[in-house]
Amino acid sequence: MLGPVLLAAARSDLIRRIVSAAPVTRPVVDRFVAGEHLDESMRAVQGLADKGLEVTLDHLGEDITDPAEALRTRDAYLALTDSLKPLGLGERAEMSVKLSAFGQALPGGHDLALKNVTPVVEAAAEIGTTVTLDMEDHTTVDSTLAILAELRERFPQTGAVVQSYLFRTEDDCHALAGEGSRVRLVKGAYNEPASVAYQHKAEVDKAYVRCLKILMAGQGYPMIGSHDPRMVAIGQELARRNGRKLDEYEFQMLYGIREAEQRRLVAEGHRMRVYIPYGTDWYGYFMRRLAERPANLAFFLRSLVSRG
Ligand SMILES: Cc1cc2nc3c(=O)[nH]c(=O)nc-3n(C[C@H](O)[C@H](O)[C@H](O)COP(=O)(O)OP(=O)(O)OC[C@H]3O[C@@H](n4cnc5c(N)ncnc54)[C@H](O)[C@@H]3O)c2cc1C
Repeated sequence: MLGPVLLAAARSDLIRRIVSAAPVTRPVVDRFVAGEHLDESMRAVQGLADKGLEVTLDHLGEDITDPAEALRTRDAYLALTDSLKPLGLGERAEMSVKLSAFGQALPGGHDLALKNVTPVVEAAAEIGTTVTLDMEDHTTVDSTLAILAELRERFPQTGAVVQSYLFRTEDDCHALAGEGSRVRLVKGAYNEPASVAYQHKAEVDKAYVRCLKILMAGQGYPMIGSHDPRMVAIGQELARRNGRKLDEYEFQMLYGIREAEQRRLVAEGHRMRVYIPYGTDWYGYFMRRLAERPANLAFFLRSLVSRG
């Protein structure tokens, strides 16, 4: 019940100001965000890499309203690429981008976002890694998949994300299951209407399994983005049934969530990639994590009471 309220709050400027200014918010945010600065994110990368985990880095930011902000996003990712280079991790450290931070929602958004994100994809390729295009709310899916198709003409390793809560996603999985196609499957984190998305967890879970079957049976590289123990077990079983070797798919989880499970999968020989968000614009990301799990909200509210 609270999920949609929190997801609506994730897009409210007023609530953003209140939550961001609350002195007790920061320690709770730190559980999900590696830090505000690039050097803090690099420490997180090194710590995880030392334990055999792979990473994808997200410079936090979304829904920008000014073209100058899109350029700042581009420059932040170029600086990130410069910092990753000396670590020599290659594709073990990739980057995730939200096209709304590159100008997708501004006038001429398709061309603007493509123009701004292309240097980042080029810089990633130069250091032997790649970029995955995060998926945002359903109004952006066509545009994001169109930009993906254009990027893949030069950089076929560019990753896609599909969300099982959308009715359209099984068709998108068929379209994206071709050779070399890297696709992260997630359940979906936005507040979507009943006209386009399943509203009940059981339906979203069943759709997740149907989508995973399509991706695992295809020629691409499935990336199982879920903390759900059932989805992890089903992913392993489908990989086995489809004769996939351990390096022909991977698991992905978010920074700070189910860390013991992340290490367990690595110990079993799986590829496990951790999504590391960093930066000052953490509000929307943080609110989506609260919305996903009542226990996270309870943890946040307890910290308000115990410090207040
Ligand atoms: C690597 C990665 C990238 C993602 N990229 C996108 C994207 O581009 N677009 C998009 O819409 N969504 C994205 N998501 C978020 C995703 O859509 C879900 O909202 C999120 O993963 C929760 O769903 P779940 O599959 O983990 O399962 P759920 O059914 O939500 O949770 C299963 C179990 O996982 C644990 N868990 C789940 N969420 C949390 C949490 N926040 N805190 C603590 N424990 C938790 C709990 O034990 C829970 O019982 C991404 C998720 C991952 C892991």
